[in-house]
Amino acid sequence: MTIGILGGGQLGYMLALAGYPLGLHFRFLDPSPEAPVGRIAQRVTADYTDQLALEKFSSGLELVTYEFENVPVEAAKFLAEHVPVYPPPAALETAQDRLAEKDLFRKLGIATTEFAPVSNPSELDAAAKALGLPAVLKTSRLGYDGKGQSILRTAQDVANAKSELPPVKLILERFVPFTRELSVLAVRSRNGETAIYPLVENHHRSGILRLSLAPAPRLEPPIQRAAEKAAHRILESLKYVGVLAIEFFEHQGELLANEMAPRVHNSGHWTIEGAVTSQFENHLRAVLGMPLGSTGPAGYCAMLNLIGDLPESSEVLAVPDTHLHLYGKSPRPGRKLGHVTLRAASPERLALRLSELPAFFHRHDFCLDAALAPSASLRS
Ligand code: AMP
Repeated sequence: MTIGILGGGQLGYMLALAGYPLGLHFRFLDPSPEAPVGRIAQRVTADYTDQLALEKFSSGLELVTYEFENVPVEAAKFLAEHVPVYPPPAALETAQDRLAEKDLFRKLGIATTEFAPVSNPSELDAAAKALGLPAVLKTSRLGYDGKGQSILRTAQDVANAKSELPPVKLILERFVPFTRELSVLAVRSRNGETAIYPLVENHHRSGILRLSLAPAPRLEPPIQRAAEKAAHRILESLKYVGVLAIEFFEHQGELLANEMAPRVHNSGHWTIEGAVTSQFENHLRAVLGMPLGSTGPAGYCAMLNLIGDLPESSEVLAVPDTHLHLYGKSPRPGRKLGHVTLRAASPERLALRLSELPAFFHRHDFCLDAALAPSASLRS
């Protein structure tokens, strides 16, 4: 049985690694000849808009899924005429557009920050007045890892933004002075079965995820229940199939949904060693209509992204309870090259293990303070 995956980055790589024990085969489509999956699976190098290549790619596949959320919706829809495509292309379409995404949250009664569409200078003025400052101006489409967005703090910032407004659909959001950022991974199978992982606490640097703590420290049951309620509403309304990630701000003890990703997610990498069933395996089970595995945590985890450069592998592995994942990509600034997961039986033991990591990790940008002295991250 061969599964087709659109996108050939590390998420696809880890999906394939989770699928091999289930006897699955994989075929990837990615425009880049450098895509890391080339090492472990069939790879078709072609553009997502190349219909001839898409048709050839889909031949003989059981189904198609994606690991990259900016796959053109047209490509997913075209493939869906030939072979089942999960998650449904409509979910992809919604997640690619911040306005559509926030409209969906609002329609489903999921709390989010106040927002307004902006497509010209006068709309920006009106939106800034209505929402107040500070506010965050984002491109509605094709933004990720903090790209395509700026914080407007003063009237001068608004004036500057007005004078250089790009000719694309934008969204202005009220700035949320959040306590912390959390995410949840939810999964729904073709047969309607659902399962949800515990919330994870995420720390970013320069807009890129650096550290996830799972389950989120000091996780109060009502917060987990609120995340699950939101996830169930989205899964059911989209008749979703596969893993869905939802990112939240925690603010004044409540969750505000920020965005969702219709795929396995970086904040779920801890599940490989830290949950009974990994997000990658559960995604495959879901799209194949097989029973889902338990999403229960198997201890306390920290996941650290390796961005731009790599530590000495043997120094990392010398720390007990530590697992290293390298994606086989050549180093480049800002590029996710791998990750490290530490799993321990208690938060205290986890903090001890983190403190034992080599000097490479004790730089400010690894956000280790948040894990070593958990209350420090909540003081702001
Ligand atoms: P996003 O691309 O929407 O995930 O935004 C990237 C990061 O910018 C988030 O992880 C937050 O740290 C920050 N951010 C985005 N939107 C807001 C907001 N409305 N208020 C405060 N911070 C935000």
